[in-house]
Amino acid sequence: MGETTVGILAVQGAFAEHECALCALGVRHFQIRQKRDLQRPMDALILPGGESTVMGKLLRELDLFKEIRRRILHGLPVMGTCAGLILLAREVEGDSAYLGTMDIRVKRNAYGRQLGSFYTEQDFKGVGRVPMPFIRAPYIMKVSGQGEILAKADEKIVAARQGRQLALAFHPEVSGDLRIHQYFLEKLVDK
Ligand code: GLN
Repeated sequence: MGETTVGILAVQGAFAEHECALCALGVRHFQIRQKRDLQRPMDALILPGGESTVMGKLLRELDLFKEIRRRILHGLPVMGTCAGLILLAREVEGDSAYLGTMDIRVKRNAYGRQLGSFYTEQDFKGVGRVPMPFIRAPYIMKVSGQGEILAKADEKIVAARQGRQLALAFHPEVSGDLRIHQYFLEKLVDK
């Protein structure tokens, strides 16, 4: 894990929290803000929470979209949290997809106004019970293809994996519990 370098998309949203988590784990990382940042060696990618519509737009404007999509399709390990999950989904309910690399169907802002943000603790396959903060979160309506469900909250799918892609509706980077980042680095990333 010490050898790994992680690129964190840092055009908008909660990227700093992922940096803190990786610092705490002693994992090398850098911010991806513009196209030339993609020239740096990278073993894994994190797509943070934020606003998927804004991030999708910025990915295109900054000309990052195609190259990031291409790398994910070629096996670059990726963890998408919340808006990052929406970016990965092949189908977004009532909207068009963004990167569309993962066989999941998602619903945005899916818990309604009252439950916009909430906290729970649930089982996460291969990790155990973990804290799950949700912030105006999406949920996964359906996992198809090679996808595997890793966690549910309130009967809804909130974590899934497909090959080297990990999608989370909640925010492990704000929970103070580093086990999900560890899971990503140990199970989905070589080295
Ligand atoms: N509601 C946001 C969206 O649709 C996601 C929220 C988050 O990332 N915390 O993009």
